[in-house]
Parts: sequence; C-alpha cells; structure tokens
Amino acid sequence: MHHFSYHGSSLHCEDVDLAAITGLYGTPTYVYSATTIADNVTRLQRSLGGLDLQICYAMKANSSLALLRLFSNLGTGYDLVSGGEIRRVLAAGGDVKSSVFAGVGKTEAEIELALKSEVFAFHVESEPELARINYVAGRLGVKASIAIRVNPDVDAKTHAKITTGTSDNKFGIPMRVAAAAYAAAAKLPHIRVAGVQMHIGSQLTSVGPFREAVAKVVPFIAKLQEDHALEYFSIGGGIGIIYEDALASGVQAWWDAFPDEERPLTPEAYGAVLEPLLMPLGLKILLEPGRFLVGNAGVLVSRVEYLKRGADKNFLVIDSAMNDLVRPAMYESYHEIVPVERDSSRAAMTADVVGPICESGDCFAQDREIQSVGEGEMVAFMSAGAYAFTMASRYNTRGRPAEVLVQDSAFELINKRETFEDQIAGEQIPAFLA
Ligand SMILES: *Cc1c(COP(=O)(O)O)cnc(C)c1O
Repeated sequence: MHHFSYHGSSLHCEDVDLAAITGLYGTPTYVYSATTIADNVTRLQRSLGGLDLQICYAMKANSSLALLRLFSNLGTGYDLVSGGEIRRVLAAGGDVKSSVFAGVGKTEAEIELALKSEVFAFHVESEPELARINYVAGRLGVKASIAIRVNPDVDAKTHAKITTGTSDNKFGIPMRVAAAAYAAAAKLPHIRVAGVQMHIGSQLTSVGPFREAVAKVVPFIAKLQEDHALEYFSIGGGIGIIYEDALASGVQAWWDAFPDEERPLTPEAYGAVLEPLLMPLGLKILLEPGRFLVGNAGVLVSRVEYLKRGADKNFLVIDSAMNDLVRPAMYESYHEIVPVERDSSRAAMTADVVGPICESGDCFAQDREIQSVGEGEMVAFMSAGAYAFTMASRYNTRGRPAEVLVQDSAFELINKRETFEDQIAGEQIPAFLA
C-alpha cells in the first residue's frame, strides 16, 4: 500500500499534486510520502507483533536526513554500513545506540566511530574483522557487542547482484564453521557475544527462502545458546516490493483481488510464517528492512524533452538519466512509468523511454506502452524510493536531483538540486598545468 494516486486527472502524493512540487522545484525530482513510510513501519511491527522486535532501517536504501529523522520519530534504529552513515544518523538526531553496524570492510576508523557512538552491535562478516574490533575496543577500553553473520546457503532466487545468502558470495561465515568462530569470539577480552545475524538477499517476492533460511539457523542458535548468553537474532532485510502494477498496488481492492496463496509478499504473510519459527528462541528479533520501508514511498518525476519518432521505434527522451536512477541499467529492473496528467482521451503509444546520456544502457524501458505524452509533459517512475537517490551520481556533469518530502497536504524540499558549483567545489587545476 502507498499514497500515490490520481485525484481527478493529476497524480498526487498524499494530498499534494506532483505538478505543484515540480512547479516550485523543477525536474527531475524525487518525491517521498511520509505517511507511506509510517504505514510500512506499522504494518511490519504488527505482522510480527508477538515478538520482542527491533527494526533497524537499512538506510543505504535511502539515507536522506529528513527520512532518517522520520524513522527516528517512528522509533526505529538503523542498519549502518559505513562511517558516513553513522555520521548521517548523528546529523539527523537519530539513535545510534539502537543501531547495528554491518558490512564486509569496516575500517579501524569506522569501528572506532561506531564504538564511540555506542552502537548496539557489530554484525561481523569474518574472523579478521572480529580481531580488529577486539583490538579497537581494547584500545578504547570498552567491550564491543557482536553478532556473527552466518551464511545459511539458501538461494534467495532474486537478481544475482542482490543475492547474498549462498556459499559462493562474499557475505557471512558458513554455518559449518560458525560455531568455531563463536567459540573464538567468546575468548576475546573486548568482545561480547550478543547475537546471530543472517541476511539472504534483497527484493524477495516469496516467503519460501526466508522460511528455509530461518529454519536452518534456528537449530544452530538453539545449540549455540548452550554455550553463549545470546540476546538477539537478526533476520536481516530483503522483503520485496511491487514494481509491476505499482500504481494499482496502492489500492486495497487490488490486494483483495488475489487469492491468499498468490498474493504478492506482504508483511502479514512474512510474519505469519516466521513468527512461529522465531517465538521458541525467546530472543529479541532484529529486522533490517530497507527496500520494503521506503521503496514504494517514492517516485521520480521527470519531464519529457522530446518524442523522437523513428522508423521502427519511438523514443521518449526525458530529463532524467541513468545517473539519477541507475536501477534499470544496473539490475535490469522494472519501474512502472505513468503520466503525471492522465488523459484517457489520448491513445497509448509504444516507446523506449530513455535519458540523454550517451550510453545505450541509459534506457529505462524498452517498448513500453504508455499514454501518449509530448514535450514539456511529465512522467513519474513509481517505486523509486529505495536504492534510487542513494545510487545517483554526477555522470555527464549532471547534478543530482532535488528531493521533496510530503506529509498529508504539506510538502518541503529536503535536498536541493545539486548545482554546477556544488559539483566542482572540490576540484582544482594543479600548479604544474598553470
Ligand atoms: C542491504 C541490506 C539490508 C536491507 O536489504 P533490503 O532488501 O533493502 O531490505 C539488510 N541487511 C543487510 C546486511 C544488508 O546488506
């Protein structure tokens, strides 16, 4: 469920006309719905309501300060993957003490910052990392709480670039050697063994791989509890969202039309399967959703520059490009593209929707059927709240888009469009070229 819909012929975010936003801030612009995010948090909490649950929002999905503050107001912690992300949480007034620090390459400086910020725990990916955390904690005279990320070797059946829980990728420690790693961790003087972590991948659209992975790790934890006083089990993130039919998925009737067993992965289905498996452990459960919380809460609004009619194909050339939204180029991912002004009297057309960058990869959709739109009119990319702005670059010396947050009938700019001056601010021409 989300809060993007047509009011009359104009696409709105909550009670705000997208055209009113772009009238002020231009295009391309990301627009986010605060109410959608709050609803997503509540739904997930309810679906696992029987557990002692702590949500750590995986902020790499969307790390804008405004959204971090919103999450903080909603009572979540954060799943952090860099020193920069720790600093963002601090800058937004968020709570590092209920956050976890994940990632395969934590530097000494990052570990130190996390310890000084009193992070809830480190999610450890290797034995050498454990030794390094122990060393830094010792230097600071503190104890670091840790969970080891175990790799349950379950295929999440998602895109190869976002599958993380099989034995042939870089994440975690295989289950068969994890017990030894825990025994080694327990001997380190500045480490406190606090939990067990798993995360099998992203954009999972069925509950099966989650069930399989949790069912594999639960007996391992039960055994581990004989020797270690564990506090929590972190089951990672990965809950997928609707990309096809994204606009319709905001409507309750759309969900209701599915037979129970065919309904797209919902937090309710996720909770119904996992809660009974997790309950017997008696542990606090950490959840690290990123995409699920913000993915359907954002759109990217772009303007049509040209409709180029070719002999065999039409090209809709728009003012956003792969630097603004890289997911189609990087993951071959699908985004629904809809007109900001709907006009049912117009015929549909079939076109490739492309950006202005000189790469054939700068293509958002091929042979897409869309309402005819022309120069100056706008389209919106649905489900663009996650792994979208955070992956934006300045390629082609294009400034990154503006970002706006909407709540009910209020909206505010939360990130200015990047200017040319912003882009060259750190650059200089060396003296030997003068
Ligand atoms: C990226 C990541 C997440 C969040 O994944 P989503 O698919 O966005 O929910 C959670 N935990 C870890 C360790 C991650 O790397």
